[in-house]
Amino acid sequence: MLYNSIVGQQEAKGRLLKMVNENRVPHALLFSGKEGSGNLPAALAFAQHLYCTQRTESGACGTCTSCNKVAKLIHPDLHFVFPIAKSKDVKSSNDLLKEFREAFLAKPYLSLNDWFNELSAENKQPIIPVEESSDILRKLSYTSYEGSYKMMLIWQPEKMNAEAANRLLKILEEPPDQTIFVLVTTNPEQLLATIISRVQQIPFYSCSEQEIIEALIANYEVNSEVAKQTAILANGNYGEAIELLNHSDEGVSFLNNFQTFMRLALKFDCAKAMQWIDENAASGRERQKQFFQYGLEVFRDSLMFNYGDKNLVRLSGQEKAFLEKFAPFVNRKNYERLVEEFNSNYYYIERNANPKILFMDLILKTNELINMK
Ligand SMILES: [Zn+2]
Repeated sequence: MLYNSIVGQQEAKGRLLKMVNENRVPHALLFSGKEGSGNLPAALAFAQHLYCTQRTESGACGTCTSCNKVAKLIHPDLHFVFPIAKSKDVKSSNDLLKEFREAFLAKPYLSLNDWFNELSAENKQPIIPVEESSDILRKLSYTSYEGSYKMMLIWQPEKMNAEAANRLLKILEEPPDQTIFVLVTTNPEQLLATIISRVQQIPFYSCSEQEIIEALIANYEVNSEVAKQTAILANGNYGEAIELLNHSDEGVSFLNNFQTFMRLALKFDCAKAMQWIDENAASGRERQKQFFQYGLEVFRDSLMFNYGDKNLVRLSGQEKAFLEKFAPFVNRKNYERLVEEFNSNYYYIERNANPKILFMDLILKTNELINMK
């Protein structure tokens, strides 16, 4: 992983490059940033720069043996800890290392949700169990293979239970020699304050729309219209933007799907509603989340279209034509409640709610709201 594959984040990259270039790497770092900010791939880019045998001031060479090993997540001095679904056969990250490598290599902007989907463990609680802390100590007690630093990359340390977190704290208080801890978190507020005080924080920000547009055009050869629409829906999350692109040719477009939903909500038809619900319940969680995000975008633009500056409407082309007809149904009375419904349903879907029950409820509630004058 090289720094130039990470979208935006100039400030974080600059700080990390400087640390390695000046040989002043702190013993514990915290890469904090929302999903899709790129803090996980950045941790790999940082490791690769650190271990590269022909590194330059601007990063790793990308071709030496060390670079190759880090890029494949098989460098012997680079260790990983990540949340697991505990079972009879899975006691710690070690038992899922192969799966984690595959998931990350296929999708460096991996989210916790993606990871648990990969494991087919969507309904299990992700956890870093206490056993992991003994593993950390054991791994760090070996001398480094390649004679430099050992690195312990802990992804989502907020998933440690209290006992595991306290043991980690002890290790951070008395870190083994030549060891760097890189904690990669999406929820720093869930970490112990005492852990936060032991690490140097590197904040990662949500990507800007423009950064996502440019990255999509450069990496996926899409036209600027598609890149723009995708960036708007992705809402600062580059991982989500890639996901949206990968699914964009999957049958019904977002617009058609949303239109059908709204027609059902305007004039409730039970048989057709059941059909829509079955199709959408079978489409998978990512697709369902995108439906809610798309709806939120349409509501926002409708309000802008009705009351605000029409130039701030972000949808264009066919979608704008739909908006002109749809916007009159969104008013000051129902806007907030529609947004609340779509937001909370997004949240429930993420937490494994039954999509069939949820969609039926949503159609009925939207029916009530959208007919509000
Ligand atoms: Zn190299």
